[in-house]
This record gives sequence, structure tokens and C-alpha cells, in this order.
Amino acid sequence: MVGRFLRVKCYKCNNEQNIFSKPATEVRCLVCNAVLMKNTGGKGILQNAKVLEVLDRDISK
Ligand SMILES: [Zn+2]
Repeated sequence: MVGRFLRVKCYKCNNEQNIFSKPATEVRCLVCNAVLMKNTGGKGILQNAKVLEVLDRDISK
């Protein structure tokens, strides 16, 4: 089972970006560098961001 991609909005700068729900490392905002998702060894924990949409399609292709 692979994780999903989430479309999230950064609380600090309102940037929207797509992130993986189970990141290998923490995920940072591409604009303001705030930590958006922390890795916990399994599922990531969202920080400083809210989920706008869960993307079922694979955006890596
Ligand atoms: Zn930001």
C-alpha cells in the first residue's frame, strides 16, 4: 500500500502544493520553507498546513 498525494495549503504564506502523505523525510513549503509534514516512521503528520484535496491520481507521472 502506497501513500496518497495531498494538495495542501500553507498557513503561513497560503502557498498550495502537492505533498506525499507518507514522506520519507519532512516536507517543507516551497515558498516560505515552513515544515508542512513531519515524518513519524509511518504516516506523516501535517503541520502548518491544511488539506484541500486528496489526490488519488499519481502526480509523479
Ligand atoms: Zn509557506
